[in-house]
Amino acid sequence: MDKRFCHYHSARPATWQCLPCERHYGDCCVPLNADAPDYIPACPLCRDNLRFLGAANTAQPFWERLPSFFAYALQSGPLSFAALLALACVFMPSVLVLWLLLFAVATKYLHGVIEAASFGGHDAPSLIEAFRLDSLQAFFQQLAVFIIALVLLWLAADFHNEAIYWAVNIAIMLALPASIIRLSLDKSLGSALSPAEIGQVMRAMGWRYLILCVFLFILWQSPTYVGWFLSNGLPRVVMVPVVAFLSGYFGVVMCAMMGYAVFQYQGELGYVMAGDEGPAGFAAPEWRRRKALAEAEVRVKEGQSGVALEILLEALREGAQDLKLNERYHQLLFSVNARSECLKHLPHYLPLAARLNPQLAVAAFLNARQLQADYLPDDPAVCERIAETLLERHKAREALGLLRNLHKRFPDYPGIPRAYLLAARGFSEELGQVEPARQLLMFIRQRYPAFEQMGEVVQLEAVLARLGKGG
Ligand SMILES: [Zn+2]
Ligand SMILES: [Zn+2]
Repeated sequence: MDKRFCHYHSARPATWQCLPCERHYGDCCVPLNADAPDYIPACPLCRDNLRFLGAANTAQPFWERLPSFFAYALQSGPLSFAALLALACVFMPSVLVLWLLLFAVATKYLHGVIEAASFGGHDAPSLIEAFRLDSLQAFFQQLAVFIIALVLLWLAADFHNEAIYWAVNIAIMLALPASIIRLSLDKSLGSALSPAEIGQVMRAMGWRYLILCVFLFILWQSPTYVGWFLSNGLPRVVMVPVVAFLSGYFGVVMCAMMGYAVFQYQGELGYVMAGDEGPAGFAAPEWRRRKALAEAEVRVKEGQSGVALEILLEALREGAQDLKLNERYHQLLFSVNARSECLKHLPHYLPLAARLNPQLAVAAFLNARQLQADYLPDDPAVCERIAETLLERHKAREALGLLRNLHKRFPDYPGIPRAYLLAARGFSEELGQVEPARQLLMFIRQRYPAFEQMGEVVQLEAVLARLGKGG
């Protein structure tokens, strides 16, 4: 399987899938509800339950984190496991039952590592957990797998044909990791021996399974090579425990790698775990808001603007004061040219935007002007705020249009002198028109003698007087 991305956001890894719609979704499109963690999210298009892909697309590939597997095996659990093997080689008497128990503990421990790593965790299990009665069962199951593999190999050797022997040999080596993964996770001999179940592990990982096998093979050989190097200089009594210790250490590294591979391909493997860095949920109101925004976006990208509008309208019932919801709703109405709905929504949206983000208010006002050439907001404070922002953007004509005759349109508005001072600045500084600016300032002097910014009026008048003489 190749790495999948969100159908609507090509940079976001996919975490969900809808089979009927043939769509992959990232966390971007499927926000989770922290107040209902067991709730299975629905497909934004068909409302069917989505299939969780786990960390298959978000997890780092196992070959990019090789050092972490070696570090994993340096924790107290794996080190005591390796030490146990080394000590047993030196001190344990050759009593069959004792060795049987040791192998049982070893099998159980290594299976435990695969299982723990398959959850994406970074903590190795402790050795104590392997001293359990069901360890014997795990051991005998694993032993059965190995014996069957040996029998197959022995049968192949019976053909006295090199090609057949090596083909079977390689097939067994390739199948063993998948079989061990199956056994440690399913704990059933049936699935560890079933070609279908083993094949599913290989299919799920594709060619990456071969990479895994190569790494496992190298790790498997490592203790032997170390032993071979040491065999020249060291006495046997030192070398045997060293090789045993290394075997334990590399065994844990191998199992940590197999377990992580399961974690990475959990979606295809049918084992679904979220992992340590699973997607975080949102509190219910925020979740509803994000869900509406995400689903509306999906619908728009599917060309279903009508449904998107319904979704946003529904969300606005609860989040009437939500800037983002209102902005999306406005933009969508404008883009589908829903003229009357768009103009009807503006008296609600413009004051909100003017208060929270004047740039958005300006954008909405310019949109409105395209729908209706003489559009004016019916709120003087909104007119003033938008005009101010328009002037900052050097759109003087649009700004002055908003302020024209403000005292006639809104006689009770207390901000008129401030707005007209703004207009006078617009005329003089942006358009270089001295006369209308002078008239506006005169108007402020006569009508609003108590205006608190009179100092600025006087200043601007002085500037205008100089300009008048000079020009
Ligand atoms: Zn997305
Ligand atoms: Zn669907």
